Amino acid sequence: MEDSRPQEFEVAIGSAIAAPEAFGASFEEAPSHSELELGAGLEGDPAVAFRRTLGMFATGVTVLTTRVAEQVHGMTANAFMSVSLLPPLVLISIDRRARMGALLHEGTRFGVSVLEARQTGLSDRFAGRISEDVPEPTFEVVHETPLVEGALAHLIARVVRSYWGGDHSLFLGQVEFARYGEGRPLLFHGGRYERLTEDPRVFSLLPPELLDPILALGGERSYEDAEAIMRVGEAGDELMLILEGTVRVQRSGRDFTLGVGELIGEIEVLDPCAGRIADINAEGPVRCLAVSRESLIAALEADPRAAIALIEVLAARFRETA
Ligand code: FAD
Repeated sequence: MEDSRPQEFEVAIGSAIAAPEAFGASFEEAPSHSELELGAGLEGDPAVAFRRTLGMFATGVTVLTTRVAEQVHGMTANAFMSVSLLPPLVLISIDRRARMGALLHEGTRFGVSVLEARQTGLSDRFAGRISEDVPEPTFEVVHETPLVEGALAHLIARVVRSYWGGDHSLFLGQVEFARYGEGRPLLFHGGRYERLTEDPRVFSLLPPELLDPILALGGERSYEDAEAIMRVGEAGDELMLILEGTVRVQRSGRDFTLGVGELIGEIEVLDPCAGRIADINAEGPVRCLAVSRESLIAALEADPRAAIALIEVLAARFRETA
């Protein structure tokens, strides 16, 4: 079959069965081949069923990069895993037919750019699925290694071992550089992109003419530095607008700060029995406007346009993830 992929590099593309030169000694012999048994109801091509089974494991998406002379090569990969903290090690798995595999050898550095939720175009780009609306990627070079700009996290590793991985090759990399920023990751599950729906905004997406009458029913509260404003599991029967100061939100391992004009407790107030989903503490003196669930319901009854707008916000959120 003709190889239609762009020729960034004049490198030999390995056949599906040839071992790359960089093999380590860990596998002296390939494990013997055995039949793959499929569970009940999984008829058809075992390879397809196996692939679909593996696809149930949700992952992030990375772009692996390396540089040869002045040329940068990148490829999309989700077969990336952390291996060890001390020493810091990561592992990547690369199809034997991929150009990238032929560029990596023991001692070579590679970059790992963990893609952010909106970077599906870049993922497609580096998987060879080029569409016209995807902008050209830009790279930042750190330790002579290209990294994709705008990614959520970056690592640079040096290949210390490589292993036989069937039709893939495994490269163990010792990490020399790591950094991350704030944001949401792009996910891959069942052969398609997914996103986390962490954004708790519902009421804050209402237009001011519908939100202001709701907030007008609120009462002011003051908190001292480090005082708890909300606790995980408590009944979420109030919505709050921050009028002064900043608050620290701690939710499922994520910490972030919210300030004046932002709403807290937006989801829980719609479903108070499920309880608060975050710990929120004052950072310095804080003043909030608290709107009880009863006041909220009264405001929605008084102006059903606000209720309809809320349903539209929720429907749009559902469409984002469906
Ligand atoms: P090519 O196919 O030649 O290049 C990949 C693409 O990147 C091409 O479109 C090329 O033009 C573009 N590109 C490369 N360098 C540059 C540059 N400097 N500037 C601009 N564009 C550039 N395969 C695996 O082996 N392991 C995995 O873990 C894996 N995970 C994947 C996860 C997802 C979500 C997807 C969509 C694909 C995955 N793939 C994986 C498939 C893999 O991304 C493709 O097979 C890819 O085309 C292999 O890249 P290559 O090295 O052969 O290079």
